[in-house]
Amino acid sequence: MVAGATIASAYAPRGDVLRQVQPEDLDVRLRGQTITRVWRRAKLIILSLASGDALVVQPRFTGALLVEGSDTPISARDRAYVAITLTLADERLLHYRDIRRLGTVTLFSAQTLDQALAALGPEPLDAALTAERFSGSLRNSRQAIKKVLMDQGVLAGVGNIYANEACWLARIDPSRTADSLLPDEAATLLGSLRSILTLSIQHRGTSFRDYVDASGGRGGFVPYLEVYGRGGDACRRCGSRLIDTQAIDGRTTVFCWRCQS
Ligand SMILES: [Zn+2]
Repeated sequence: MVAGATIASAYAPRGDVLRQVQPEDLDVRLRGQTITRVWRRAKLIILSLASGDALVVQPRFTGALLVEGSDTPISARDRAYVAITLTLADERLLHYRDIRRLGTVTLFSAQTLDQALAALGPEPLDAALTAERFSGSLRNSRQAIKKVLMDQGVLAGVGNIYANEACWLARIDPSRTADSLLPDEAATLLGSLRSILTLSIQHRGTSFRDYVDASGGRGGFVPYLEVYGRGGDACRRCGSRLIDTQAIDGRTTVFCWRCQS
């Protein structure tokens, strides 16, 4: 639909969806570039550019690319949620709109795109990720299971908060090596992770930034956090004092020594 079009200008009214490019640099990076191909890989929409760079859209749950022409305007509702607008040389507008801004738009260089795509693990909520496949992906790792959950090559997009919460819910010691998990434990852990992510999405909870790297603002999901941020407090399952440690990969790990053993 937009393949072959040239970008006349770029504007990011809600630049927090951007990755690997600052909102103020977007126009300079894209202006004059021709979109050579629009394609998909897993849940990604990839706009390849003539320079070899690529704009990669990960729409997640409420994101979409919309093309607006002079006689085909987008709805007022869509317009209210536009995060990025590319003005094309043929005067059409290509919008990325994202109602809850859970999605991302990443500007990859030619060198990093192939690498990034090859290295990407499945989405934790992707139905194609079976318990067997997940269990299999843990089999060759001697690293701590919590660290492996956050490995983008194993699962795409799980941050520190969710890794902590999933281990607690599944009653799995976060420091156990990934290869020590039995298949039924791996299945439980995946189910726990999915429950937490689903609950979080329902509560617009921790922001998407948390979902990615656990560093962003903490929203409506915070009351539902069982361990993260509660080091020293009582475990809500058994009453034991939760342990707070940096021992795994320097990241904050909070767990219950009694029910996660
Ligand atoms: Zn406990």
